Amino acid sequence: MGNGMKSLVKQARELAAHYRIDDGRGFALKSIDPDDTGPFAKDDKAKAQDALAAGVELLSELQDRLYAQDKWAVLLIFQAMDAAGKDGVIKHVMSGVNPQGCQVFSFKAPSAEELDHDFLWRCQRSLPERGRIGIFNRSYYEETLVVRVHEELLHRQNLPETLVSKDIFTQRFADIRNFESYLARNGVLVRKFFLHVSKKEQKKRFLERLEDPEKHWKFSAQDVKERGHWDAYMDAYQDVVRETSAPHAPWFVVPADNKWFTRAVVAAAVVEALESLELTYPKIGPQQKAELAKARESLLGE
Ligand code: ATP
Ligand code: MG
Repeated sequence: MGNGMKSLVKQARELAAHYRIDDGRGFALKSIDPDDTGPFAKDDKAKAQDALAAGVELLSELQDRLYAQDKWAVLLIFQAMDAAGKDGVIKHVMSGVNPQGCQVFSFKAPSAEELDHDFLWRCQRSLPERGRIGIFNRSYYEETLVVRVHEELLHRQNLPETLVSKDIFTQRFADIRNFESYLARNGVLVRKFFLHVSKKEQKKRFLERLEDPEKHWKFSAQDVKERGHWDAYMDAYQDVVRETSAPHAPWFVVPADNKWFTRAVVAAAVVEALESLELTYPKIGPQQKAELAKARESLLGE
């Protein structure tokens, strides 16, 4: 790795470290300001965009090595309130990576088939293969977010009544922790992002959707209704971070009132994650080297 690249990686690590939570005990959501732009001034948008572009370029190289090595899989989980910018982050951060090595899954309200299974089932069957980056746009965390805020959803999950107790969410946190340890031990690197937008900024973005004909399609009356449960959601998110942060599966609570900053932080965290794997291209042995030399000779001799 060249020196320029090393310094980029160092910058990425520092930027991401600020929002990374390895141990959630005592975490308070109010410690993260949604309007924070870290080392960038509010009018430093261009600088952050440069950082994003550099991150994207680096990512594309790292992904190439991930794919060639074919040992690790990377799972990126995105959670957020509506209009926090999940889709844009996914689009921008992954813009440089080879589509062959990347899969995105969006998890909506579960179907009848999905409700006929345990809550991890649909996510488990969408996990990335070795060598790939998998993205979850929402995830099994909804089971401790929307389902917690709207407990009537829980009662529609076809669970045996004796298993639906007041401890169910505590149990789900334990199940998620165990699942993510299991993934880590099987070579799936997990990174989780909560894009933390403020209630005020969400209002602004909803109003834009109502006012701009090109954004009308994004508007959903249901989203405005969900806004009414804002505080309950924030409590639920805080608990998620407290209960499920771990060094092998950290949460990044990313300020999301400034889209350009959100994207730079996420790109930095993904670069840092891939970098930590010390990916190298597979080395070949003397026998394979001899084979390559032979193939070369035969091509040249044609
Ligand atoms: P966008 O609005 O940007 O297209 P989105 O992720 O908000 O993306 P929607 O179809 O609007 O997609 O919303 C998906 C909905 O599905 C969310 O309200 C989410 O809370 C809900 N959902 C996801 N998983 C579950 C679950 N396990 N149980 C119940 N509801 C869920
Ligand atoms: Mg939505």
